[in-house]
Amino acid sequence: MQIAENSAVTIHYTLTNSEGEVLDSSQGQEPLAYLGGASNIIPGLENALLGKQVGDKLEVTVEPEQAYGPLRDELVQKVDHENFQGVEDIQPGMQFMAQAPWGEQPVTVMSVEEDGITLDGNHPLAGQTLTFAVEVMEVRIATEEETSHGHVHGEGGHQH
Ligand code: ZN
Repeated sequence: MQIAENSAVTIHYTLTNSEGEVLDSSQGQEPLAYLGGASNIIPGLENALLGKQVGDKLEVTVEPEQAYGPLRDELVQKVDHENFQGVEDIQPGMQFMAQAPWGEQPVTVMSVEEDGITLDGNHPLAGQTLTFAVEVMEVRIATEEETSHGHVHGEGGHQH
């Protein structure tokens, strides 16, 4: 059975950046489950997996536009210290959830200065070319319930 829209798919993957550093891997954990055509995974990876079958192994290199998008300068902002009242000892690298007009968004503290705190709202992988080594573990037709929820249930998927 080939991966298509409305396939429930599980994959093992190892993600490396353009320097060859491993950023993330499912090895030693449950494989990642996703619903085909539901944007559960980045477009470049989803497209490369279309038509693949159980046991197929592939290596996919994905440009930022097909991954987490380019770095956007406008998502880097300096805010007043008073936004962090009650938070002790703010350090570069700390992550917070911020309220954005479109919902909650993770932001990373870039620098802390006397006149404010610089935050980066870009996805940590934005602007990066990513390589995924993938093995297809399972392919089945998604249930109607999964299709209506927009995600896969069971092992490696949503538990609810
Ligand atoms: Zn569900």
